[in-house]
Amino acid sequence: MGSDQKYDFIEKQLSKRRRQDRHRSLRVLNPVAESGAYAEFEGKQFVNFSSNDYLGLSGDPRLKEKANEYIEQYGTGSTASRLICGTYDIHQNLETKLANLFDVEAALVFNTGFQANSSIVGTLTTRNSLILADKRSHNSILQGAILSRAKLLRFSHNDLQDLEDKLVTAADRSYDRIVIMTESVFSMDGDGPDLDELIDLSQRHQAFLFIDEAHAVGIWGDQGRGLSYGKEGVDLRLGTFGKAFGSFGAFVLCSRRLKEYLVNFCPGFIYTTALPPAVIGANEASLEIVPMLEDERQKLHNNVRYLREALNERGYETGSSTSQIIPVIIGSDREALALQEHLESNGILATAIRPPTVPRGKSRIRITLSSRHKKTHLKQFLELLDEWEY
Ligand SMILES: *Cc1c(COP(=O)(O)O)cnc(C)c1O
Repeated sequence: MGSDQKYDFIEKQLSKRRRQDRHRSLRVLNPVAESGAYAEFEGKQFVNFSSNDYLGLSGDPRLKEKANEYIEQYGTGSTASRLICGTYDIHQNLETKLANLFDVEAALVFNTGFQANSSIVGTLTTRNSLILADKRSHNSILQGAILSRAKLLRFSHNDLQDLEDKLVTAADRSYDRIVIMTESVFSMDGDGPDLDELIDLSQRHQAFLFIDEAHAVGIWGDQGRGLSYGKEGVDLRLGTFGKAFGSFGAFVLCSRRLKEYLVNFCPGFIYTTALPPAVIGANEASLEIVPMLEDERQKLHNNVRYLREALNERGYETGSSTSQIIPVIIGSDREALALQEHLESNGILATAIRPPTVPRGKSRIRITLSSRHKKTHLKQFLELLDEWEY
């Protein structure tokens, strides 16, 4: 093989993406210190409707202070994986605090939600197991299911009847285990399943239940402890520190026994360097602050209600969103992209989401709201929509 030829596939795939208008590239956006609502791009300030910093904590001085304190005390690296010598007292304390706050037996910190999702399910299953995942599950869940080599079936989005049908059919097969994986707030649609019904269903069929609460923790449930907070019968719940908590990393909440099992068997936990002290510091500070941010959550919920109602009054479809993630469904790829550009040229950052991330004909502008957005920001967005013509 000629040395040029071996790179052919790269060129071919990239030009295919360009032809489909789906080629993507990185661009540099800087946060505007402590505002939580703005980002800077090419020297200009934009109202940012695409960040997951739902409570504006990523610039919070209390998080920075704790991060700095831990750097001074523990250094910049954690020197090894958790099982070797990367579990400092601060790692352990963080897990204790998580378990206490969420009222569960145990918590285990992972480096990222992606790493947790892509490696946990494989440790719970064998080639003879069945994974039932929502059709719109986050890519990390899908990767985990593929890596596990268990049988994967995907049920229609939030459709618990379809899930039940699949569970009933599975009862006739000889799967050694069944794991149900879903999200409490879906990242593209901002909706979620009926959790009580889901728990009931998983219990009746003796299935493991894994709920990803990446977009719920900090925002939803009592003191922002997630939509599954206080509910018995969820085997594993995932939360992230990278979204509402304004930092980085992830955690799973589970029984003591399951934690012990993951510590011994989960490659995504075992074979990676532990989170560095600075990150543990920010996470710890955030964990102390988030439960008290009732006013911020209220502001965010008010923003959500106001914008969704205003969009619906204008005849925009927002799907089944019930959360701070609001899809403004436009339809065609090109129109969604053109609207993104129109918003951008008028000082607003909001991302067009197109297939394959969302179904064909359902291209959209995805809005994520923060407690830091003011009414004027929302009005500015609505006015731009009002004048929009394609
Ligand atoms: C963001 C996200 C993840 C990944 O979490 P990271 O910590 O950013 O890797 C997992 N699941 C869902 C639903 C997410 O939105």
